[in-house]
Amino acid sequence: MSGGPESTVSRETTSRETDHQSDQATSSGNGDDGFTAPYNGISVEETPIGAAAHRASQVLHPHSVSLPKPPERRILTIANQKGGVGKTTSAVNLASALAVQGLTVLVIDLDPQGNASTALGVAHHSGVPSSYELLLGEVTAAEAIQKSPHNDRLFCIPATIDLAGAEIELVSMVAREGRLKGALSEKALGEVDADFILIDCPPSLGLLTVNAMVAAKEVLIPIQCEYYALEGVGQLLRNIELVQAHLNPDLHVSTVLLTMYDGRTKLADQVAEEVRTHFGDAVLRAVIPRSVKVSEAPGYGMTVLDYDPGSRGAMSYLDAGRELAARTAHITKQEQR
Ligand code: ATP
Ligand code: MG
Repeated sequence: MSGGPESTVSRETTSRETDHQSDQATSSGNGDDGFTAPYNGISVEETPIGAAAHRASQVLHPHSVSLPKPPERRILTIANQKGGVGKTTSAVNLASALAVQGLTVLVIDLDPQGNASTALGVAHHSGVPSSYELLLGEVTAAEAIQKSPHNDRLFCIPATIDLAGAEIELVSMVAREGRLKGALSEKALGEVDADFILIDCPPSLGLLTVNAMVAAKEVLIPIQCEYYALEGVGQLLRNIELVQAHLNPDLHVSTVLLTMYDGRTKLADQVAEEVRTHFGDAVLRAVIPRSVKVSEAPGYGMTVLDYDPGSRGAMSYLDAGRELAARTAHITKQEQR
């Protein structure tokens, strides 16, 4: 990647306000949520409670919105070796957004921290069949899959603390980079006919992340609209190129998601602009705002769509999910060329 994306982001910010104000001030970016439809002659946008209720009803009664099923299962690796950029938050909330809108989604927690398992409210104490046993070939995917307590179409293969040793244990194994791919065959998934599989990676570029990149066709990179956001992205792209060259020729960066956007800072706009210049169409138009609700939800074992369906965070992930699903046709066409 010539020049690299790590070049010229200014470290300057403007005023700082509270997170709550930020929630109100930012939007999900594409403006097509339909909250402006008049209700009893008054635009719902005019009353904050009305707007929130309208948005919540869209999430809670999504039957009118049904996303197109991809022609074939889409597997996305959610990777960025920088820590705390929103990988897990995006994995679980995008999964929830897709499931709420009619698709079947499996999240694979490939991070020993087990944050995705926590956020999805599934058991992940030591001894539970997990991604660790899956990589070692001790259980099938079907045996490790758990259903989310909040959505019948949302599933998770959890991560337990045992996964912390997997990077070392895998080193001596046969076909160590392809173990996850091997474990995700149609037959191994059993009854879970997932339209999307989202793999939440740890903040490193070790064997766990490589396994995720070999198992997937697409990489989704979350980028935090903050200081040093693009640091390390060049290295991530070089690793993707290496995996593509040696292990998985189909792998490509299909999606970039801007997270923790704070519209009151110049920096957030500068980062967003630079990312759009570098990654072009891969960047989703929907942007995830910095939102207290998003950060509170995992504490209740919920995604933000379950925790506060009317919040900006929930709406922005719904938008992002919709955009991601709508890209199916585009991606398939590109691949056929
Ligand atoms: P790690 O590299 O440790 O796996 P990560 O990239 O998965 O981290 P997250 O765990 O998703 O990042 O997010 C890091 C922190 O930022 C968490 O505390 C999360 O709740 C918070 N966070 C993520 N997205 C948002 C948001 N849109 N608004 C506010 N807080 C957020
Ligand atoms: Mg994480």
